[in-house]
Amino acid sequence: MSTNLTWLGHNAWLIETAGKSILLDPFLNDSPISPVKAEAVKADFILLSHGHSDHLGDTVAIAKRTGATVLTNFEVGEWLKRQGVAEDKVVGMNPGGGSTQAFGHVKFTTAIHSSSMPDGGYGGVAGGFVLKLEDERIYFACDTALFLDMKLIGGGGLDLAVLPIGDLYTMGPDDSLDAIKLLNPKRVAPCHYNTWPPIAQDAAAWANGVRSHAAAEPVVLEPGGKITL
Ligand SMILES: [Zn+2]
Repeated sequence: MSTNLTWLGHNAWLIETAGKSILLDPFLNDSPISPVKAEAVKADFILLSHGHSDHLGDTVAIAKRTGATVLTNFEVGEWLKRQGVAEDKVVGMNPGGGSTQAFGHVKFTTAIHSSSMPDGGYGGVAGGFVLKLEDERIYFACDTALFLDMKLIGGGGLDLAVLPIGDLYTMGPDDSLDAIKLLNPKRVAPCHYNTWPPIAQDAAAWANGVRSHAAAEPVVLEPGGKITL
């Protein structure tokens, strides 16, 4: 069974697998580069890496409209419930923990990054996600610095890794090359860049760097572009 991933700009992705629609970090209506509006997306599940507004985005509105189950860290999950997201539609996780859902297994992985809510509330710790689907393993690093344990995350084999390359708030292009060497995925896609001028990057130059320094195949998308695994 194939899996389709559509980049919705920044760290927002739509993953379609096993007949389910999964949104990751749906920052849509306030994103200058999102190709879709929050009112138009389908979601059975939402994965939310941390509480910052460029990731939380439209999570509350989409969760309420669609009844999607939200998987996120424990503290962000409690905050979502206080915003009116149904108690039984929130799965609160912590790094290292996993959860089996209708589309596959989700593990909340370590990330080196901060997390707080737009109202100043405590947002727990930021994380990434490893998705173990029927036929594929996908790693979304989400907002993070480079860290050596990426070697362990890549240990089970990865069909795709999605890494930030914007620099300033996350790892930049150079550190992402080291991350790719540690993860050793078959394919790698960049995100969290060109949303605003402070995180502008040349993705074509990044892709050339990947080709000359790592075995992974770089996949550079425009917002709205799709990868099929
Ligand atoms: Zn971010």
